[in-house]
Amino acid sequence: QPVVAVVGRPNVGKSTLVNRIIGRRQAVVEDVPGVTRDRVPYDAQWNGRSFTVVDTGGWEPDAKDRAAAIAAQAETAVVTADVVLFVVDAMVGSTDVDEAAVKMLRRSAKPVILVANKADNTSIEMEATSLWSLGLGEPFPVSALHGRGSGDLLDAILAALPEAPAIVENRPRGPRRVALVGRPNVGKSSLLNRFSGEERAVVDSVAGTTVDPVDSLVDIGGQTWQLVDTAGLRKRVGKASGTEYYASLRTAGAIEAAEVAVVLLDSSEPISEQDQRILSMVTEAGRALVIAFNKWDLVDADRRYYLDKEIDRELRRIPWAIRLNLSAMTGRAVDKLAPALNKALASWETRVPTAQLNQWLTALVQATPHPVRGGRAPRILFATQAGVAPPRFVLFTTGPLDAGYQRFVERKLREEFGYEGSPIEISVRPRK
Ligand code: GDP
Repeated sequence: QPVVAVVGRPNVGKSTLVNRIIGRRQAVVEDVPGVTRDRVPYDAQWNGRSFTVVDTGGWEPDAKDRAAAIAAQAETAVVTADVVLFVVDAMVGSTDVDEAAVKMLRRSAKPVILVANKADNTSIEMEATSLWSLGLGEPFPVSALHGRGSGDLLDAILAALPEAPAIVENRPRGPRRVALVGRPNVGKSSLLNRFSGEERAVVDSVAGTTVDPVDSLVDIGGQTWQLVDTAGLRKRVGKASGTEYYASLRTAGAIEAAEVAVVLLDSSEPISEQDQRILSMVTEAGRALVIAFNKWDLVDADRRYYLDKEIDRELRRIPWAIRLNLSAMTGRAVDKLAPALNKALASWETRVPTAQLNQWLTALVQATPHPVRGGRAPRILFATQAGVAPPRFVLFTTGPLDAGYQRFVERKLREEFGYEGSPIEISVRPRK
């Protein structure tokens, strides 16, 4: 989700503007000169697009002079934002403090929208044209208090936002794409035979010949799924083309084309390096993951003991994967597959509202702050969820985080919000 930062001197009306943009009265605190206010993110929508508004409001009380303070504040905002709203008071015009901030803003490559606030009437609006002199382009005269000009401003914000990513939530409700992968002889074809399918013959448009169907629609648990690369499952790869290299390319292609992967393991054998490689392909591609321990009919108490140890050791990187113990031969737990796939996909597409995310994060960093290193501890300022499928988060911080602390945040994030069956990605955007 893109971030819009609101920057400006105290008392130019930033809080009122933020209230106007988010379209409702939230507890946005008014500017109090000399008082530092933490950067607070709010969710906003306009014309079907969502973005995060960060009210930078704060004022650095220990800064030597106002110009340095505003520059520091603007700098933070610029680093973390996709678009900057630079707010000036239309009744006052530009001040030397504004000009200092503008210098910094112009050095950055970030799009800046110049907002001339308190333009409550036409004559002040006329005055605002003098703000062209700041060199930030067209000033947008707005009355945050009365709403005047706010529609035009929101249109300008949308125009400046980066391209919207493909919105997975609004995907057409066609069949979900699932890949069934695993090393040879784990039982892929046997499992596939449990599901009734319908193959679509694909005609090669160039040669005019019918070639192997690549995907099939199969019924799993009363629901239609698009099983990618079914041809690779049904046909034994011939000796000539059957090198591990080609098999692995084919597996990678199937995973890439799918939304969720079922990785089949042979429970009667140790988890192998090849199994690990296939699991890594899924996590690296960022796909939802269900691990099916097939041939469960062969697992006795003795094997169970060693398998549990193998799982602890070999699957510790992916404790979040959904695991099933099934048997393609006897049909044991095959009916658990569809619910597991649906659960993994739901996690994969989860979006946490920014306010909820930050409420949780604030409590977390208060309870367990980043350890102090060399007399300093980086602070997490706030977080946004940048996307889904899989869930991606951006932490805005005052400096780089320890790898260990970042893992801690990820673990806690999973404890709070689940994500069973889905990888999640966390990136850190340190200020400067
Ligand atoms: P693929 O190469 O992954 O497609 O594996 P296949 O489906 O061809 O299965 C390989 C071998 O494992 C065959 O001999 C199957 O009969 C056997 N097999 C598959 N699933 C099971 C199972 O659940 N239990 C047992 N005991 N054997 C199985």
